[in-house]
Amino acid sequence: MTERTLSIIKPDGVARGLIGEVVKRFESAGIRIVAMKMVHMTRTQAEGFYAVHRERPFFDSLTTFMSSGPAVVMVLEGDNVIARNRELMGATNFKDAAEGTIRRDFATDIEKNVVHGSDAPETAAFEIAYFFNQFEIVGG
Ligand code: UDP
Repeated sequence: MTERTLSIIKPDGVARGLIGEVVKRFESAGIRIVAMKMVHMTRTQAEGFYAVHRERPFFDSLTTFMSSGPAVVMVLEGDNVIARNRELMGATNFKDAAEGTIRRDFATDIEKNVVHGSDAPETAAFEIAYFFNQFEIVGG
């Protein structure tokens, strides 16, 4: 089933020059990039994006980090792309991530883990609409 998901190259990934590396992994996996832009979120925008985590102990630190510099937001499209992107990313904690995943290869910290990816169709719909309108998504 063709799906869409939101991917973010987080501020650590952008600052460390990993945009090309992450994009290459998506393209090599046959995943289509149908929207892409750079954003520097305000704290309020980061809080809105991660609102589901607002009660978690890491919320303040996470939203400070996510608003600390530019990030790349993308809409990815393909069969089963929500799960496939999560597979390419690896586990939240890079120490638990499988070999060859983005987080295992590049993350330095449980928070600074280079990439974000939606975890379900409902979150993907919310997260895509958070950053993109219909005219910014090709074919769509
Ligand atoms: N995070 C953190 N500490 C934790 C768990 C998560 O700093 O103990 C951060 C990390 O950047 C993670 C984000 O919060 O990517 C969102 O957490 P989630 O559990 O949704 O993980 P993800 O879906 O990104 O793998």
